[in-house]
Amino acid sequence: MESLADRVARIEAQITAATERAGRSRAEVDWIAVSKTVDPAQVRAAHAAGVRRFGESRAQELAAKRAALGDLELEWHFIGHVQTNKVREVLPLSSWIHSVDRLKLARKLAAQVPAAAPQRILVQVNTSGEASKSGVSPAGLPELLDALAAWPQLRVEGLMTIGPLTDDQQAIRAAFRTLRHARDRERARQRPGAPLGHLSMGMSGDFPIAIEEGATLLRIGTAFFGARP
Ligand SMILES: *Cc1c(COP(=O)(O)O)cnc(C)c1O
Repeated sequence: MESLADRVARIEAQITAATERAGRSRAEVDWIAVSKTVDPAQVRAAHAAGVRRFGESRAQELAAKRAALGDLELEWHFIGHVQTNKVREVLPLSSWIHSVDRLKLARKLAAQVPAAAPQRILVQVNTSGEASKSGVSPAGLPELLDALAAWPQLRVEGLMTIGPLTDDQQAIRAAFRTLRHARDRERARQRPGAPLGHLSMGMSGDFPIAIEEGATLLRIGTAFFGARP
């Protein structure tokens, strides 16, 4: 069976190949191992294989994993939907929050984050128009970013999206391109506290396309840990 170290090597090789195809620097692209439903022992094994950044989508599961792995230096990314009543739980557990998608949530976050220790966030955009997906609409993005600019304690590192669940490569590519264009347009506005350097996009099934379209943070679960139950 392929070891986690083998999988790291395979994913790294795929990332390198895609950056070369796209004429991008390998150093611009990193990946987060999505560890939802994966037990702490596996995360520990991933750490031993050299992985340091992990993604979780539920507050309770993240809290349990952090408690079980407190002896390791890991960077936790919250990638799931953030319920406003979970903000107080999620904040101290997460180095990055990828899924800020509405004003009410931003306001709750801002109220909880001390100005001395800004929180890194990404704004989630619904680029596919699928009703099932969270995320601000591309049309609503400028207004949300304008509101976020009022809170220096929230550092808007970039944008995040989930590609459409389809085999249609062109539709996937179009969604990622929409995110990159939105980022380029909004970055030109130079809002304070919003460097917008990052694009969190690309999962196990579509990360090479995401890299070709400008991704800087890939979120890879299944291709690394195997299929979830
Ligand atoms: C589960 C999840 C992933 C990882 O998906 P895989 O297809 O297993 O790589 C990435 N991003 C988000 C937001 C997720 O919920």
